[in-house]
Amino acid sequence: MDEVAGEKLRGKHPVEDVLYNRLMDAIVDKYLRPGQHLNEVKLAEKYDVPRSRVRRVLERLRDEDVVVFELHRGAFISRPTVAEAKNVFQVRRHLEELVVSLACARATSKDIAILRDNYLREREAFEALRPNVNRIAAEFHFLIAKIARNEILEQLVGTFIRRCVLVQSVYEKKSGILCLSEEHREMIDAIAAKDSGAAIRMMQHHFDHIVASLELTKERRLEKDVYDFLTE
Ligand SMILES: [Zn+2]
Repeated sequence: MDEVAGEKLRGKHPVEDVLYNRLMDAIVDKYLRPGQHLNEVKLAEKYDVPRSRVRRVLERLRDEDVVVFELHRGAFISRPTVAEAKNVFQVRRHLEELVVSLACARATSKDIAILRDNYLREREAFEALRPNVNRIAAEFHFLIAKIARNEILEQLVGTFIRRCVLVQSVYEKKSGILCLSEEHREMIDAIAAKDSGAAIRMMQHHFDHIVASLELTKERRLEKDVYDFLTE
């Protein structure tokens, strides 16, 4: 139901965070794909919230570059261009080099145990072909950002993970996950040993492998445009 006309939205309602997190999870799980339409009316009905609140959540996603608004057509999941895709990975790579070096300096034995538990869950999800494997793999990157104990880095890593998933959805050569879990395990060992040189090198290799699994060409993006048109 819409709010009474003229009544102003006061502060942020908890349901906005719920909806925001649901949409973000759906992006990381690849349930929502680049180019997909987000219907404000249906979202408002499903979550039983005013459309004005749905709109605020969509605007928040737009500010993080994961949603775009098209005139008279509404909100869509972003479909990054080749240039955006390269820029996103370039920044994320350097960002996570910093993250992992700070994690090496600040990780406690409890942090290492949390990372190892995440690795085991990732392996298990991968072997069982569970749909949430991408989210667990992304959690590894969130966790090392938490261990770095810098909230700004944490927020930035979250934003970049989502944008990278969208890049992957458009440009991946074959469907799969962004991360190789064995590389996560090696990084955990380096963080536990407080060997930041090794951890940074591993992070660089990790991103080399991720980028190598993509076909960053305009042609690839056009192929996906055709696909989206057929399935919309
Ligand atoms: Zn990874």
